[in-house]
Amino acid sequence: MPELPEVETVRRRLAPVLEGRRLERVEISDGRLTRPLDPAVVAAELSGERVDRLERRGKYLIVRFESGRALLVHLRMTGSFRQHATEGDPHARAVVRLDDGSDVVYRDVRRFGTWLLLEPDELEPYFASRLGEEPLGAAFTPAALSARLAKRKAPIKAALLDQRTVAGVGNIYADEALWRAKLHPLREAGGLRKPEVAALHAAVIAALEAGIERQGATLRDYRQPDGSSGSMQHEFKVYGREGEPCDRCGTAIDKIRVAGRGTWYCPRCQRLYAASSSSRRPSLSSRHSSV
Ligand SMILES: [Zn+2]
Repeated sequence: MPELPEVETVRRRLAPVLEGRRLERVEISDGRLTRPLDPAVVAAELSGERVDRLERRGKYLIVRFESGRALLVHLRMTGSFRQHATEGDPHARAVVRLDDGSDVVYRDVRRFGTWLLLEPDELEPYFASRLGEEPLGAAFTPAALSARLAKRKAPIKAALLDQRTVAGVGNIYADEALWRAKLHPLREAGGLRKPEVAALHAAVIAALEAGIERQGATLRDYRQPDGSSGSMQHEFKVYGREGEPCDRCGTAIDKIRVAGRGTWYCPRCQRLYAASSSSRRPSLSSRHSSV
């Protein structure tokens, strides 16, 4: 599933295509995209809107129109945009004809993606109940993160997957951030000490920024005519690297399951029990709690 860095990369690529353009005609061929609303009704509402800005909040793309309305796009598993229509594409779910005559196609193989058209006053309440702070914004501070984690018994990995803790972090970047912060994924979220929360705060930002850089590099690589794949083959510190050596200490990366998700960590850098404070052991039940 695309996480914040992947969605941000889509936003950066799509913004120059959409911003300032009027949606001349919109066709939505998959009712799942707009349910429970009729796709034909949503398509008719979108037609004629002019795009002001393309923004992102967490894993959501926000197409802001000059009218004040906003189209909220969540790519879920496999949603993506193409700048040209391919004849007979079985995975095309919507086609937007822009006022410069070009088409933008929304594709989705698994069909979990969603389009939600919101009125001007609906956007903020929608996010307020669903998303925590934007991790690359000024409001995401160690104190804000600490407040989101306070009293939570869930493992920190599960807490990070909850979008109300911090917006946009998913399975990959949760593992990457915990490795950077040297925190075991099963540590109790509400039991982290102040310096640990501060380390996690910095680690979330660093992991996401590295992800955005990598996505940018990947995009550049795609344009290379010689087919070289540049920076695509390395980069993750723990995610998907079971049995491979930790970048920091050389210990083999281990894989466990937390909150039902595959979770990679370094058993040496990320200790569950601090050597000096056995009283901080999480209870067994916290290992099984979920989001
Ligand atoms: Zn290590």
